[in-house]
Amino acid sequence: MKLLLLLQQESAMPEIPRQLKPDELHQWQLAIAEADRHNILCHCRDCDYEWVASKPEPCQCGSKQVEHIACWQFPDG
Ligand SMILES: [Zn+2]
Repeated sequence: MKLLLLLQQESAMPEIPRQLKPDELHQWQLAIAEADRHNILCHCRDCDYEWVASKPEPCQCGSKQVEHIACWQFPDG
């Protein structure tokens, strides 16, 4: 849960590396958008279940009190 709370605090867009050229920046943005579309961490506020989905969806317990967090926000390791 500590990691999850940390991520929620950093839910804004990541800082854009300044050294990127315009075409590289475009690729970077596409990559993030792609990851964002297909890797959403879902966390149920009711039963605390966590899973990854390609789109926001209700929990297996039937609850719709679900948080959706894009996985690209996760640091490696
Ligand atoms: Zn649930």
